[in-house]
Amino acid sequence: MKVALVGIGKIALDQHVPAIAASDDWDLAATVSRNGQVEGVEAFADIATMLSARPDIEVVSLCLPPAPRFAVAEAVLHAGRHLMLEKPPGATLAEVHALQALAAARGVTLYATWHSRMAHAVAAARRHLAGRRITGGRITWREDVRKWHPGQDWIFEPGGMGVFDPGINALSILTEILPMPVRLIAADLDVPSNRQGPIAARLTLSHGIEADFDFRQEGPQTWDMEFVTDRGHIALRMGGNLLEIDGAPAGGEDTIMDEYPALYARMADLVRNMASDVDLAPMVLVADAFTLGRRETVAPFEF
Ligand code: NAP
Repeated sequence: MKVALVGIGKIALDQHVPAIAASDDWDLAATVSRNGQVEGVEAFADIATMLSARPDIEVVSLCLPPAPRFAVAEAVLHAGRHLMLEKPPGATLAEVHALQALAAARGVTLYATWHSRMAHAVAAARRHLAGRRITGGRITWREDVRKWHPGQDWIFEPGGMGVFDPGINALSILTEILPMPVRLIAADLDVPSNRQGPIAARLTLSHGIEADFDFRQEGPQTWDMEFVTDRGHIALRMGGNLLEIDGAPAGGEDTIMDEYPALYARMADLVRNMASDVDLAPMVLVADAFTLGRRETVAPFEF
């Protein structure tokens, strides 16, 4: 299938282009970007021109930040093409509901991806937790925004979600592996005095689960979650890639290189089966953190 990539920035070049190149299902047929391009691939500067010039391209994959994404997503679905969205799937929940309705009306696939759900140990953790009762948990998601999002001012703008841009990856794993729904109870948000989005957040969730997200982590980075259940402990480390059961290694592999190939394999299946996959549970937790969060102004932040 021919796919067009929109938003040729960090994640498109780091992950999407290699994943498409390595897949037998996909052919990267065009890019849409104001500045970026991929060598040897036809480049367009805007979505409307690409959609009218290339009716042969059935699938469009959006790697834009969430705030500018909706208008492009809507144009793709109106044109009757299948659509794949980077996480988070939109700037608001209502946007994604509108896209779901439009995809259903046009009879095309909509896939709201959560790349962290494809990490090596997530499926095993889900199987392990099935039927167990969770009595407590701790998520620690601390990374250096300068390393992973260099110069990306959009991340601290409204709709950019601040530290929830990586934090929602943790919440996507959480909502995938728990055997019951989880809800947000309270949140503290640290917002730099010169920015709109939080640089750190602490969440209290149901079932005794606490989360600590921080963008100011230098040195070793931490993407861990630990749970206490009625029948022992379980931990996921390195962003869902390594599993520990009762303190002992229990599988997984410390590499993220398979997440994006898995997303494109899933998209190929969804298109073949004329199905969609849109789970907004991680985004509901983030929206509720912004609704209930107590804001603390902290030191200004510059990249
Ligand atoms: P990025 O490099 O800052 O942006 C991607 C591209 O989007 C840019 O190259 C730009 O392309 C376009 N863009 C940026 N702002 C725009 C605007 N206001 N209007 C129109 N186009 C705009 O960001 P990224 O790191 O690739 O992240 C993109 C998405 O991928 C985000 O949702 C993020 O959460 C997700 N993601 C990122 C990472 C990561 O490690 N960085 C990992 C996983 C997922 P042009 O200017 O050339 O048009």
